[in-house]
Amino acid sequence: MQIEIYGCRLELVQGDVSEQQVDAIVNAANSRLAGGSGVDGAIHARGGPTIIEETRRRYPGGCPTGSAVASGPGELPCRLLIHAVGPIWHGGGQGEPEQLRGAYRKSLELATEHSCESVAFPALSTGAYGYPKSQAANVTLAAILDFLAEHAAPAVVRLVLFTQEDYKLFSAVAKERVDKRKG
Ligand code: ADP
Repeated sequence: MQIEIYGCRLELVQGDVSEQQVDAIVNAANSRLAGGSGVDGAIHARGGPTIIEETRRRYPGGCPTGSAVASGPGELPCRLLIHAVGPIWHGGGQGEPEQLRGAYRKSLELATEHSCESVAFPALSTGAYGYPKSQAANVTLAAILDFLAEHAAPAVVRLVLFTQEDYKLFSAVAKERVDKRKG
């Protein structure tokens, strides 16, 4: 699914985020930047060991939840790798929506600062971190659309959903939110 909005293109696809041909790929990292399962596992397996060597050296304290840091891409087919740390779900009353929003926002800031015209995201926090998917979809789409409204960049933002079910859910939320904004 592709949507033109605020002079940019929002794309939703089903697939593996580590395979996307874009300027910047976003990893679903943990705050220690220690590598893990899910998206993190796929990124480090495909990207090779130089990524974790670099993040250990540049960010020895890790990255706070709700933010993101950048590294080189290793063997990945992109120019920039962005390690975004979404929140672990603790019921929703401990700042999770603001933190999830912050992780997307900081990633988009890093992408634009590095002149990346296209960026691919996984659905942060919706795997091991247990964020309910429908709520995550709403926070995610609001965060991305707000950023595009303010900055009219990056030119292409692609959300990469791993399963068909997630693709359908995020696409329905995207359509609803865009229709509302276009009035
Ligand atoms: P988190 O710890 O932030 O929840 P996960 O990597 O466990 O991150 O999962 C985030 C989302 O990414 C989940 O919806 C999961 O199904 C999906 N996912 C897992 N592997 C990949 C992949 N290679 N590409 C895109 N999405 C993936």
